[in-house]
This record gives sequence, C-alpha cells and structure tokens, in this order.
Amino acid sequence: MTTATMGIQNAFDVEARRRDFPILATKVAGRPLVYLDNAASSQKPNQVLDAITSYYREKHSNVHRGVHYLAQQATEAYEAARDTVAAHLGARDRHEVVFVRGTTEAINLVAQSYARPQLQSGDEILITQLEHHSNIVPWQMVCEQTGAKLVVAPLDEDGQLRLDAFAECLGARTRIVSLAHVSNALGTILPVAEVVRLAHAQGAVVMVDGAQAAPHMQLDVAALDCDFYAVSAHKAYGPTGIGALWGRRELLDAMPPYQGGGEMIRRVTFAATEFAEAPARFEAGTPNIAGAVGMAAAFDYLNAVGLEAIRQHEAELLAYATERIAQVPGIIPIGTAPDKASVVSFLVEGIHAHDVGTILDGQGVAVRVGHHCAQPLMDSLGIAATARASLGLYNTRQEIDALVEGLDRVRELFA
Ligand code: PMP
Repeated sequence: MTTATMGIQNAFDVEARRRDFPILATKVAGRPLVYLDNAASSQKPNQVLDAITSYYREKHSNVHRGVHYLAQQATEAYEAARDTVAAHLGARDRHEVVFVRGTTEAINLVAQSYARPQLQSGDEILITQLEHHSNIVPWQMVCEQTGAKLVVAPLDEDGQLRLDAFAECLGARTRIVSLAHVSNALGTILPVAEVVRLAHAQGAVVMVDGAQAAPHMQLDVAALDCDFYAVSAHKAYGPTGIGALWGRRELLDAMPPYQGGGEMIRRVTFAATEFAEAPARFEAGTPNIAGAVGMAAAFDYLNAVGLEAIRQHEAELLAYATERIAQVPGIIPIGTAPDKASVVSFLVEGIHAHDVGTILDGQGVAVRVGHHCAQPLMDSLGIAATARASLGLYNTRQEIDALVEGLDRVRELFA
C-alpha cells in the first residue's frame, strides 16, 4: 500500500488521523472519550479494519497446503504480510520472522526453544529491574527447568538502566540478556545497542522485548545488532492475537520447536518427524492469517503516517503532559528518565490509584491503574500501583487538558 492509496499526506495532521479511528467518536458518561491507555492496547484505524474485512470477504481459506484459488490467495496474503513485517523490523531475511500470538509468546518461544536446550545449572539469564512479567516469568520457568539463575540489573532514581551496574552483572556465565526496548510502566527507552555491545563482548545473546517500541519508533534489528526481537501488533494499531518474533536465521534454524502439529513438518512417520525450516517449524497449526494481514496493514499505516512525524508529535505531547500533570498539587511522577516514550506514570498523594482511575473514567478519561504487570518494579519502588496515561498518535493537547481537569476533580472529591 502506498501513501497515496491510503490518502495520507506527509504533514502530520492529528485531526485527520483521528478520523481514521472510528472508536474515537465514542462517548463515555456523555463526554468524548479520552483514550490514554495506548500502552495496554491501541485503537485500530479503518485501514487495518478494512484489510482484515477484505481478507475474510475476498481471500480466506487455509494457507500453504491448498492448490485451489482461495488457498493460494490466503497463502499469498499471509506470506506478503511476513514480507511487510520483515521489512518493517529491518530483517535481512523473511525466514527470520515467525508469526506468534504476541510478545508473550515470542519470549516463551525463545525461552523454551533456545534457552531450555542450551542452559546448564549455574548459567545466568540477565534481565533488568523494569521488565514486564512476560519478560520475567518465562525465564524463571527456564531457570526452574535447567538450574540456571536469573540476575537482575538495577535502575537509577529516574528509572534508567544503570549501564555500569549492568556491565558488572554480565559475566562469563551470562548466556542470555533479555530486556525491554521501552518500559511500559515508566516509559524509559533503554540503551539497547549499548547493551548488545556489552553482552556480545561476553558471548551472551540478546533478546529485546519491543512491545512498547513498535508504536513509537522506527524498528531496526540490524542497527540494534540484537539476536531476537519481539513485537505485538495490538499495541501498534494492529489486531490482537498476533505478533512476531524476529530471530537470527542461524539461531532459529538450530532451535528445536516447542510445539508440534501441522504446518511445521517436512515429513512425519509414526517413528519420527523431520521438522520444516524456520519460520514454519515454529508455526504449528493453522496460523492467525487475518491477524497477520491486519498486522501488516498496521505497519503500512505507521509508515504512511510517518514514524518520524509520529515520534515528534508524541514527544511534544509527552513534554506537555509531563509539565501539566506535574503542576497538579500532590502529584508524584514515577519514571523521570530524560529519554522516554509516551508514558506518564504518577501517584496522587493520599489517593489510591484505583480511585484515581475510577473518577477519571467518570469523566470519559481512560487511564490504566495498577502494577502494569511489573510487580517486581513496583516492589523495588516501594509502591503498589501507579496511574498511567499512555499516549498514541491520535492524542491531543486538549485531551491532556481533560486529564488534568479530571485530576483536579479527583483532588476536589478527596479534599
Ligand atoms: N512487554 C511489555 C513491555 C509490555 O508492555 C507488554 C504488554 N503490556 C508485553 C510485553 C506483553 O505483550 P502481549 O500481552 O501483547 O503479549
């Protein structure tokens, strides 16, 4: 799809982009919806909705094995989606892209297919203090299975990775480093390229959780020089239930699959099975074909709008939101790294985050409250929960103003 066919001009026009998202016309409690929960899941533009509907209306069948017309159409659509995703991630080879349910499944795949067969008792997996549960629990499971040890690199007071401490945590036993590209709870952008350099120098492979990076920045696995990269479509304006794992081909080809079934084999006898090459060997069963089509449409949409234009718009909005929210009396910001993407997490002194969320909802403002699937991070900060406003490409200054008015109302009610 080209920019022209999508009807998107080069200059960033937030009102025009809002019209791409039909759900943004929703009213909540009689007021316009202010959707500031994009880090949990973003809304979907017509371009994605239409791609999914057209696929089902015009092309649907099962993929790969059919000789008939629709089977070929579906296969072409699915494999074209892989090309789009591979190009968007900066992959050199389309075989390096495995379609999965999302970031969680991608990390589990690497944990079970890469780490589990390789790790031995005493080996180490290094993560950071700000990881999402989906980048903690799969590694804990592998540690349990292999006797490896989970090591956690600390943050500084602003919520940035302390590179000096990280380097000290890296050792001869570190086999895998796994870290978020962007923190969902704090918004911190992590210095992934730097981490990769340090980790590779010690002979460790690096897995990057790109769930929160995909909606906000140009992805480029080659520039990062990482070994695995995971994304979820639903946080980047695509559908739920689909995502991608990118992995270096030589690593993927050497990894045994951890799920068996149809589609992932070269030959099966009752005695034994020969697996297909990557990525097919990791895609057992009928895949989420419409999801892959929708994911590719979402990446086409991001490119048509322009990732640089999105980055600039969101950076301005983040600066505005950070400043406005900080002016509300009793606000305690959580996560103040200079290099951040799209997330403002905060506490309101003396008021439980869940009350903050409920009162804001009464005014049509959707934020997320809770531990954001980062309980160990919350524990290390000595808090149970934060309120989190997370921005997307369609958010506006007026919506930040509505959030701030909502916070004033919260304070009035609890005064
Ligand atoms: N990592 C991060 C940083 C996330 O924010 C999320 C989703 N909240 C995930 C991983 C998991 O993504 P998914 O639920 O789409 O698998």
